[in-house]
Amino acid sequence: MHVFDFNEQLHDLELRGLKRHRSVLEGPQSTHITIDNHEYLSFCSNDYLGLANDPELVEAVCEGAKQYGVGAGASHLVNGHNIAHHELEETLAQFTGFPNALLFSTGYMANIGVVTALVGRSDAIFADKLNHASLNDAAILSRAQLIRYPHLDLAVLEHRLANSRAKRKLIITDAVFSMDGDIAPVEALTYLSEKYRAMLVLDDAHGFGVLGSKGRGLLFATEIAKQHSSNIIYMATLGKAAGVFGAFVAASNEVIETLIQSARSYIYTTATPPLLSHALKKSLKLIAQGDWRRKKLMRHIQLLKEKLQTLPWPLLPSSTPIQPVIVGDVREVVRVSQALKARDILVPAIRPPTVPTGTTRLRISLSAGHQEADILRLAEELHKLAEAG
Ligand SMILES: *Cc1c(COP(=O)(O)O)cnc(C)c1O
Repeated sequence: MHVFDFNEQLHDLELRGLKRHRSVLEGPQSTHITIDNHEYLSFCSNDYLGLANDPELVEAVCEGAKQYGVGAGASHLVNGHNIAHHELEETLAQFTGFPNALLFSTGYMANIGVVTALVGRSDAIFADKLNHASLNDAAILSRAQLIRYPHLDLAVLEHRLANSRAKRKLIITDAVFSMDGDIAPVEALTYLSEKYRAMLVLDDAHGFGVLGSKGRGLLFATEIAKQHSSNIIYMATLGKAAGVFGAFVAASNEVIETLIQSARSYIYTTATPPLLSHALKKSLKLIAQGDWRRKKLMRHIQLLKEKLQTLPWPLLPSSTPIQPVIVGDVREVVRVSQALKARDILVPAIRPPTVPTGTTRLRISLSAGHQEADILRLAEELHKLAEAG
């Protein structure tokens, strides 16, 4: 007997159809994965460019291990900062057009570090309601006043900025929203941040490598790129399109130095293995030379949208590899996801509390690693299941 009622809580999740289970992958991440000795066509990963199992990156990891060993052995500020980390930071700053960049172990830790280092008790955070959980957690941890605005509603945001007496103001937003796939209006957000003397944190976890010229991310998909406002703090992850692991923040020298001095999720943790940074330098090259991958991915997105237009379930308006199909009812979405699995296709059902009640969805994520036939097969099976429902 536990002193707390964990079992009751878990049982309750089960009854409400909200209990989550982990599948065990018996091989590399890919568009075709093996689970329980059985092969599936998968639309579940964030490996948008198909780099997670790229032979050149596997080779680079081995080379990095030979050169730098396995573990960093210490935190960045206590002798764990390796030349591989340092060179990767310089390359990332150049690539994204910012004066400076700083590596973090994960995107979750980057968001926690940035927000808590830049604002505190007498400050205010303005956050889109559909932001990623890591930004929400960061805001709470910072102890700043948290002011959330309805998804993409810049009129409400402006009103709240105008009425705030906070000492420092920080706008935080996903650049590409992770459950909806839509894109934040960066130019308008930059304008507002300048007008109200706020800083703007852009979380481009799903845009980096995919959007913009050479895959440099959302800022390079807009005019903003040419004259990065010094108000912008750009965060992107390296475990999604980049295919490896980690995250970075790119910003002004002043902001990066502030993070080095005071971001606790940067300071109080072991540096990532330098071999990963070594491989990531290679990954950045593959991203920059990867127009053919991005073109293939965009063709898949177009094709899927075209083929799913006549489904009874609406697609959200997304032009990114995240394509949500809104089914609405929790049991129905579980039925469809399980029926797809029985046909050897994996598409995750995303349920509350990850998304708002009533917007339960299939979250299809596409990759340059898919073939056209994979997209057609998914579309065909979805149509059959919609008719059977
Ligand atoms: C995945 C993700 C993160 C977290 O990044 P990790 O490197 O996986 O910790 C942060 N923000 C957004 C929007 C994400 O999608």
